[in-house]
Amino acid sequence: MSYTIDNITPAIEARFNAKVCRTDTCWIWTATKNKHGYGYFAINRVPRMSHRIAWVIHNKQDWPGDYEARHLCNNPSCVNPAHIVPGTYEENLADKIEHGVYATRMREVFAKPCMTPWGRTLAKRHSNIGKDIVRRKLQASIDGYYYL
Ligand SMILES: [Zn+2]
Repeated sequence: MSYTIDNITPAIEARFNAKVCRTDTCWIWTATKNKHGYGYFAINRVPRMSHRIAWVIHNKQDWPGDYEARHLCNNPSCVNPAHIVPGTYEENLADKIEHGVYATRMREVFAKPCMTPWGRTLAKRHSNIGKDIVRRKLQASIDGYYYL
């Protein structure tokens, strides 16, 4: 598990905190971010999502492995542990629908004519596989990683 409290030494915590700009509300990650705004922080050369690390540091416990991270402030760059709660995939999806992120990303994904090597569009392929898989791929694209 890559989000364990055992990974966090005082030196690593100090290095982490140096990359955070604290405001009265959100704490903004100032270092590496992916194209969707989620911050990354490397520990032992392995990049990890900085908002989860923030939660681990603050709560002094491992990230619950089966849970995704919900940003209550809907700000991907925020690492304020008070704004981050572990949630189920369904809760996270509900947040994104509520905030309109999901609909926007859906339009982006399906607007792209991504052709497969055998000449069918990605959207067409998506229609042929389970809707749950499509949702998870979209979720992954929102979160900035590939669902495999
Ligand atoms: Zn926030």
